[in-house]
Amino acid sequence: MKLRVGTQKLHLRHTFTISRGSEDVAETVIAEIEEDGLIGYGEAPPTAYYGHTPSSVIASIEKMKPLLAGADPLQYRDLLGRLGRELGGPAGDRAALCALDLAVHDWVGKRWGLPLHRLLGLAPERMPPSDFTIGIDSIPRMVEKTREAAGFPILKIKLGTPDDLAVVRALREITGATFRVDANCAWTARETVEKSRELKELGVEFIEQPLPPDRLGEMAEVRRASALPLYADENAVVPADVPRLAGSFDGIVIKLVKCGGILPALSMIELARALGLKVMLGCMIESSVAISGAAQIGPLADHLDLDGAILITDDPFEGVHNRKGNMVLPERAGLGVQPRRSQRPERSEVRNRAERPDTDP
Ligand code: MG
Repeated sequence: MKLRVGTQKLHLRHTFTISRGSEDVAETVIAEIEEDGLIGYGEAPPTAYYGHTPSSVIASIEKMKPLLAGADPLQYRDLLGRLGRELGGPAGDRAALCALDLAVHDWVGKRWGLPLHRLLGLAPERMPPSDFTIGIDSIPRMVEKTREAAGFPILKIKLGTPDDLAVVRALREITGATFRVDANCAWTARETVEKSRELKELGVEFIEQPLPPDRLGEMAEVRRASALPLYADENAVVPADVPRLAGSFDGIVIKLVKCGGILPALSMIELARALGLKVMLGCMIESSVAISGAAQIGPLADHLDLDGAILITDDPFEGVHNRKGNMVLPERAGLGVQPRRSQRPERSEVRNRAERPDTDP
C-alpha cells in the first residue's frame, strides 16, 4: 500500500474565535493510501489543545509506512487494530490515527463500491440536522453572523466572555432558531448553574463543556443543579473516557480527530448508548474529507455539529452536502469525497510551522 501525506491551508470565511483564541487560516493534514489503483483519502486537522501540529501529525503518519507497506486493507479491522496499538495509546498520536482510519475506510468502501454508511448498515434518513457555529465576536458582529446563518434551524453559539447572556439575548431577538452553547471550559460551577436558568428561558437546548476537564469532580453536582443538559467535549476524548462521564454529563461530543477515526468513534457511541448518554458528532475547522467521514456515521448520533467545511472558503474536496444544516450524503463509494479539480491538495514538504491555535468549532 502506498502512502502520501501533506498539508492543506484552509481559509476561514470569518476570523474564528472561541474562548481559547482566534484564527483566520487553519492548516489540515491530508493522507492518501493507494492500493490496486484505488485511492483512499483521510484527514486530521491538528489542534494545539490536544498537542498536535501539522508537522507532528505528518511525522506520526510517516512512521506507519512500514506497517502499511505490507498490509491488506481489506482486513481493515486487523490493520486499524495494529495502527491503534501504535498510535492510539497515551504516547501515541490519535490525529495521525484518524487520518489513516479515514483513508482506510474510504479505500474499503471504494473497493466494494459502496458508501461507508451502506457498508455499516446505516439509514441515511436517520441523519440529524447539523448546527451552524457562531464564533465569539462583538455583539453587533455576532448578530450580523447570525443573520447570515438564516435558514439553519440550529445555531451553536460560542460563549466564554463576560457578555455571554447579553449575546444570547441579542441573538434571540433576531432568530427563532434552536440554540446550543459551548463555553469551551471557560465557566465555573456556580456560573454554569446560574447561566443555565436564563439560557433555558432563551431557548438553549444544552450546554457544551462548561468547566475545564480537570474539574470533572464538580460536574455531577453541577449537572444536578443545572437547568439544562450538559455535554462533554474536552472531557470526552477517547473510548476509555466515556464510562467516567456517566452521571456527570448528559451527553458526549465525539470528534474523529480526538478519538482516532471511525472505529474508535463507533466504540464511543456504543459505550455512550450503554450508559444512557446522548451523542453529538462534532468537528474542527476541517475539509470535506473529515466532515464526510463523520457524516457517514451521522445516522448513529442524536445531534450533529458538522459545519467545519462550510466555515472555510477553499474546501479542497467535495463530499457530504450541507444544505442549511441538512446533511446529504453522496452516493459515491467510501467517504463519498473527491478532490475539487482546481484545489487539488499540494503535497507540500514538512516545514517548520507555527503551532496551530485551537480550532474547535
Ligand atoms: Mg466544543
